[in-house]
Amino acid sequence: MIFVITEHKDNKLKSITSEALVLAQRVGQDFGQPITAIVLGSNVSGLVDELKTKQIDRVVVAEHPDLAEYSPDRYVEALKTILGNEKPFLVIAGHTTQGIDFAPRLSVSLRRPLIAGCVDYEKQGDKLLLTRQVFNAKMNIKTGLRGDPPCFATVSPGAFSTDDLKAGGSAEVVSVSLQFSGPVRRKLIERIEAQKGKVDLTAAPIIVAGGRGLKEKDNFKIIFELADSLGASVGASRPVVDSEWLAREYQVGSSGQTVSPKLYFAVGISGAIQHLVGMQTSRCIVAINKDVEAPIFKVAHYGIVDDLFKVVPALTKIFNDLKLG
Ligand SMILES: Cc1cc2nc3c(=O)[nH]c(=O)nc-3n(C[C@H](O)[C@H](O)[C@H](O)COP(=O)(O)OP(=O)(O)OC[C@H]3O[C@@H](n4cnc5c(N)ncnc54)[C@H](O)[C@@H]3O)c2cc1C
Repeated sequence: MIFVITEHKDNKLKSITSEALVLAQRVGQDFGQPITAIVLGSNVSGLVDELKTKQIDRVVVAEHPDLAEYSPDRYVEALKTILGNEKPFLVIAGHTTQGIDFAPRLSVSLRRPLIAGCVDYEKQGDKLLLTRQVFNAKMNIKTGLRGDPPCFATVSPGAFSTDDLKAGGSAEVVSVSLQFSGPVRRKLIERIEAQKGKVDLTAAPIIVAGGRGLKEKDNFKIIFELADSLGASVGASRPVVDSEWLAREYQVGSSGQTVSPKLYFAVGISGAIQHLVGMQTSRCIVAINKDVEAPIFKVAHYGIVDDLFKVVPALTKIFNDLKLG
């Protein structure tokens, strides 16, 4: 059995859950393992209905007032109880703030290995190899496991496309009632939302990102105008943030956000590896750069080799005209 620990907010599944389910469906098919999604929370019937539409076998639901908000202690306690009654082959969580918080605690407490930040997998005989990236994604390593299952894995955001998630299941729903006895050592005090439409990049379907090629802060207004014409969010490379043209939340890359939108414009961005690891799984990448040798063109699906100060306003005009027409 493959378990996916779902992540959700405001009674909606986060996209990382769909991405983890894609990995589960693929591994499940290759290894003949059924899939169970685990939902921890309170008043989560909407999530269960949504999960039932996916091609999975079972949804295990644990509702408790203590699970209304994420709590590492409660999550570990709940998951230990649920998984303790099962024979998991693989347990998958998101490589997110939440996943990298509870998954190591859970794997240590069950004394099983955790492979963090997985981007792919391979079936070698009857063995599962999980691939993760190291050294700022300069290298991929494949990790095999010794000993008996289960193994824990966190899946990197953007590594698996949610478009590949197979629907059409008729999952059985099992409710589990839990009683907690352990201490709660950390509690959520406040949730501070990212400014929607501007810097919530991980959920943005279209991103227009600008780099040092913009030359100065004021020039970034052409990036915002292009973004507005497309209903897109704005992103940036690190030098833009380091120069304080934009706030840190806009940064895409190894030390910024990892994004995987449907459409990513890289404007005046050279395509250093640290930037690429944060956006190279975008479905369609359009690069605008005057240097035909810029590495960004190696990952771009469409490239425009020209001066961005000519190209960007022209594109903005086209998109605005299309809206009027
Ligand atoms: C530990 C570490 C972590 C890092 N983390 C990140 C990270 O998270 N994100 C990140 O982005 N970087 C990160 N970096 C920095 C990274 O190595 C690069 O320095 C950075 O990505 C370069 O940003 P850039 O492409 O905007 O600038 P540059 O490399 O200077 O590229 C500017 C591009 O603009 C083009 N250009 C200039 N003028 C025009 C014009 N008029 N029209 C069209 N094109 C033009 C140029 O041809 C050039 O390709 C990190 C570095 C380190 C060491």
